[in-house]
Amino acid sequence: ENSLERNSSNESVQVIVRCRPLSEKELEAKCVSVVKIYPTRGVIEVENPKARSENEKNKIFTYDAVYDENSIQQNIYDETVRPLVASVLEGYNGCVFAYGQTGTGKTYTMEGRAEEEMGIVPRAFEQIWAHIDRTTGVEFLVSVRYLEIYMEEIRDLLRIKSTKSHELREINGQGVIVTNLHSQTCQSVKDMLRAMRTGNNNRTTGMTNMNEHSSRSHAIFQIVIEMAAEHSKSIKVGKLNLVDLAGSERQSKTGATGDRLKEATKINKALSSLGNVIYALAEHSAHIPYRDSKLTRLLQDSLGGNSKTIMIANVGPANMNYEETIITLRYAYRAK
Ligand code: ADP
Ligand code: MG
Repeated sequence: ENSLERNSSNESVQVIVRCRPLSEKELEAKCVSVVKIYPTRGVIEVENPKARSENEKNKIFTYDAVYDENSIQQNIYDETVRPLVASVLEGYNGCVFAYGQTGTGKTYTMEGRAEEEMGIVPRAFEQIWAHIDRTTGVEFLVSVRYLEIYMEEIRDLLRIKSTKSHELREINGQGVIVTNLHSQTCQSVKDMLRAMRTGNNNRTTGMTNMNEHSSRSHAIFQIVIEMAAEHSKSIKVGKLNLVDLAGSERQSKTGATGDRLKEATKINKALSSLGNVIYALAEHSAHIPYRDSKLTRLLQDSLGGNSKTIMIANVGPANMNYEETIITLRYAYRAK
């Protein structure tokens, strides 16, 4: 192996942590921050607000990168995601996951807001089309799919009225595919933004509790880029999966029962199976347990092998959220 290539941007799995600012509500409730970030060392330190002795006071974790409450979307994109998208444009597969408790900034990180606060997904669109526009001698075919996994059921977010069922099927040479999933050809950033918005609107259509639904489902925006060089017969294909995961909060805390509890169990199972897959990949383990959830089966061809994965663990800084923050950091640490 070429030792020059062993810097962190070439590792197949990268785990980064982002801490959002205290919210208005938290400030009003007189919450204080218990999180300290040391960006240059990749270290996050969390102070236990209920510590009774010095040695149970602070917990320290190290990751590939850490971002504090002042970090901006552009930097996170340029430093971590841009190299992954560049490798997708060379014909490799990649996944970006936003993990964390509901309200910690997963959707802010993935989608963001307008202009400078634009998140990873629209920035990836821009990078892809900037590359296509300046590349000569290669023909590109770009298509997108947008789907959601809710209670281990797949919904096509680009064809919400379709009554066709979506199953995972293993096809020789193609890996695992989703049956009856609409694939939308795109010719510009605008086309991709339109697909993203359509899907986002569809995510909550007909749902009695919109916020609850999106915090309990995994949303996967998939971009497939086929590239044919003029004087070559071979076609390269790169696939990029941008995933806003279901909230990772422990369900015991929410007092769920019946259907709710069943649902919660499925969410937790998918998240822990994703954690297990990423851990096994990072450990170069011989057995990667893809088959344990729909999420990991679906993403099998983009996790492992030559693919790159970025896991962004989102946390809030408030003392009130100390326990959830530690659980998220442990999950992410294990994936590292
Ligand atoms: P999640 O998707 O994890 O439930 P959201 O992305 O919806 O969380 O974030 C919750 C709230 O916090 C939103 O109002 C969002 O705009 C805000 N927020 C999250 N992260 C940041 C950040 N880094 N800077 C400013 N506001 C943020
Ligand atoms: Mg969200």
